[in-house]
Amino acid sequence: MTEPSASESPGALAREAAHPLRVAEPRVPFSALRPEDVVPEMTALLALARAGVARIAMVAGAGPEAPATYENTFAALEEIEISVDRALGIVRHLEDVATTPAWRSAYDAVRPEVAAFLDGLPLDAGLWAALRAAAADPAPLDSVRGRYVQRVVDAFRREGAELASDDKARLAEINGALSALTARFAQNVVDATAGWSLHLPDETHLAGLPLAAVAAARAEATNRGRDGCVLTLAMPCYQAVLTHALDAGLRQTLYRAYNRRATVPPHDNRPLVAEILALRQRKARLLGFAHYADFVLADRMAGTGQRARAFVTDLQARTQSAFEAEAAALHAFRRELEGDSAPALAPWDLAFYAQKLQQARYAFDDELLRPYFPLERVLAGAFALFERLYGLQVVPRPDVDTWHPDVTVYELRTETGASAGLFHVDLFPRPTKRDGAWMNPLMVSAPGVPHLGLIAGNLSPPVGDRPALLRFAEVETVFHELGHLLHHLVSRVPVRSLSGTSVAWDFVELPSQIHENFCYSPAVMPLISGHFDTGEPMPAAFLQALRRARTFRAATAQMRQLAFAELDLALHIDYDPERDGDPLAYSRTILQAGTPAPLPDDHALVAAFSHLFASPVAYSAGYYSYKWAEVLDADAFETLAPNEDIDPAAGRRFLESLLSRGNSAPPEALFEAFVGRPPSLEPLLRRSGLLA
Ligand SMILES: [Zn+2]
Repeated sequence: MTEPSASESPGALAREAAHPLRVAEPRVPFSALRPEDVVPEMTALLALARAGVARIAMVAGAGPEAPATYENTFAALEEIEISVDRALGIVRHLEDVATTPAWRSAYDAVRPEVAAFLDGLPLDAGLWAALRAAAADPAPLDSVRGRYVQRVVDAFRREGAELASDDKARLAEINGALSALTARFAQNVVDATAGWSLHLPDETHLAGLPLAAVAAARAEATNRGRDGCVLTLAMPCYQAVLTHALDAGLRQTLYRAYNRRATVPPHDNRPLVAEILALRQRKARLLGFAHYADFVLADRMAGTGQRARAFVTDLQARTQSAFEAEAAALHAFRRELEGDSAPALAPWDLAFYAQKLQQARYAFDDELLRPYFPLERVLAGAFALFERLYGLQVVPRPDVDTWHPDVTVYELRTETGASAGLFHVDLFPRPTKRDGAWMNPLMVSAPGVPHLGLIAGNLSPPVGDRPALLRFAEVETVFHELGHLLHHLVSRVPVRSLSGTSVAWDFVELPSQIHENFCYSPAVMPLISGHFDTGEPMPAAFLQALRRARTFRAATAQMRQLAFAELDLALHIDYDPERDGDPLAYSRTILQAGTPAPLPDDHALVAAFSHLFASPVAYSAGYYSYKWAEVLDADAFETLAPNEDIDPAAGRRFLESLLSRGNSAPPEALFEAFVGRPPSLEPLLRRSGLLA
């Protein structure tokens, strides 16, 4: 590897085909990547990037012969950021799907330096001067480039570009402290969760649990060299006990342990919550904002903390009476089962009796549906839907290099036959793969050049000679991630940083969630389902049951999400330690509004609320986005699929006016261009069965 010379143009970063992390084509030579190349590659790339930034900064003082233009500042900076981001993205991706100790240490070795480089850009005075000079250039820009210039200038200002140098130093210090404290918060949650277990020598306590959960508890004991069973706070075990265990004492034990996590030394997050909140508030004030929520939301659809809060409060008010009715119905159901002297429900009773109520009312069992959803069929059905709706074609590409034999590669083609991009599909669990499901926009290209993306997940794998058969929730997950993937692959935005999924946090789930709705459509169900053995269509009664289950206790679920959103905003707008005291007690009062049973005094969920505190920003002041995006998707779906039908004209309009437009215009403008008016709450309330 040779050190790059400062005379190379920034474009050379992406064109250098000899370096596997600097690929320009929408393909990555995955099988040729080696962890030992990561540190030297990224070191060389960062040196090139720093030289490129220095070259942009020189433009500011170069005088009238070499004026600052869009091309030699904003476009040059974008190219540098994309090159660095893309190279680190490939390493992070392999760490996500095929980690080894060597990949992890390579990733950990380069990540802080890359973060420091990117975080330091707004604080670079020379770079900021060059960008300002170019922004003042009177030569007109098209609307997308104009939008990009405005967004970069706003982001630099918001991140401290105009601060005096001692304030920049204070900001860098706060950023460093937030990064360290939030990393420790995350580790404490993981360690505190993993550090709790309950050994039960006698299996009778587990009465009511599904056989698979009992087997898992036995296996956990064996792994730990004990007899009997061991219960943990890992989600599958915790949920199985809270939903199914007949022993209320056992449910209470796990509930209280779960909601007290990370409140005891050495994994005590209580002081960290207070410190993180204080630092965030200081940062917001330093940058000229009234509070942290306004700082975070300045470039989101909601715009301000107050607007996000008004949204939450409004939805709470419209859900309250249905929430109370559902709580009363659950209490009544318990008395039906246990007589009039049955005690009031405790928080650890809610999931248990809700499950019994659902069985009694709908006789509905998720497992019965599984044979009708072989993964191959679900994917083929989704691709058929995309063809009818959008004119898009999906073609297998077995010739393309990938990272594991389970992974398949496809090409997406537009209605004219042009390649929109390649995508990898990697949906089964492996010990070397992280949890969850996600879409990764590996490479974003300019219009006319194909993109590269992937969807990954941990779905039910094939067992023996049976194909992979999905639970219905997994079918929805596939549609969700395919929605993100389409948003990325069909994007045609001339500024790559405004392409595809590079949109506001409270808008990005619209394209994913809107596609989930098709899983409930009578027109789509025959495309995506069919018995794996006999090919028989799914019985109509099953679809009816699925549609009914969608509204079961919907107000309770919604009030819980809204209480989290309200807590998040209250902590980042109102909370004042002098006046409000202990943040745990403060949080408990707010969360009480979202649950129909009294929370115990030691309830301390906020100490393990990773969404808010496990990284410097993450979902902080943004938890409302889940519901916000649901409002958008429920509303836009009524236009995309009138009567839940497949409507090719509406599909083409959605593709043209929103799905392919990335962040090239404000999200509210894209939404209105498609729906014809601003978003309304009614469609979500209707879909959840909450309209009177
Ligand atoms: Zn998503």
